[in-house]
Amino acid sequence: MTDAADAGPDPKLVERLETVKRTLRCPHCDEPLTKTNAPPNPFSGWESPYLYICLNNACPYYVRSEETLAAQGVPGGAYRFVFDPLREWCGPVATKTLGTLRG
Ligand SMILES: [Zn+2]
Repeated sequence: MTDAADAGPDPKLVERLETVKRTLRCPHCDEPLTKTNAPPNPFSGWESPYLYICLNNACPYYVRSEETLAAQGVPGGAYRFVFDPLREWCGPVATKTLGTLRG
């Protein structure tokens, strides 16, 4: 299986990443992000009281994360796309971390 990610950043993806703060949609699957409380975890370093997370189980970012982590020797791990509105930061958040805040 080949992946376009190896060819460099997708211009459309870069554009969407820049508009996440306005659209609040996942740049990977275009689904609306879900507002959620930030994990009370000092390790995460969140400064915002809440974060926007893509909870779409079909999101390519999420689906690919399992393969990526498995390739790195972390079977069963996964992460989702998250947007921190305070820092205007986009990145991965481990689903294990999410588990502690959604319960
Ligand atoms: Zn998504």
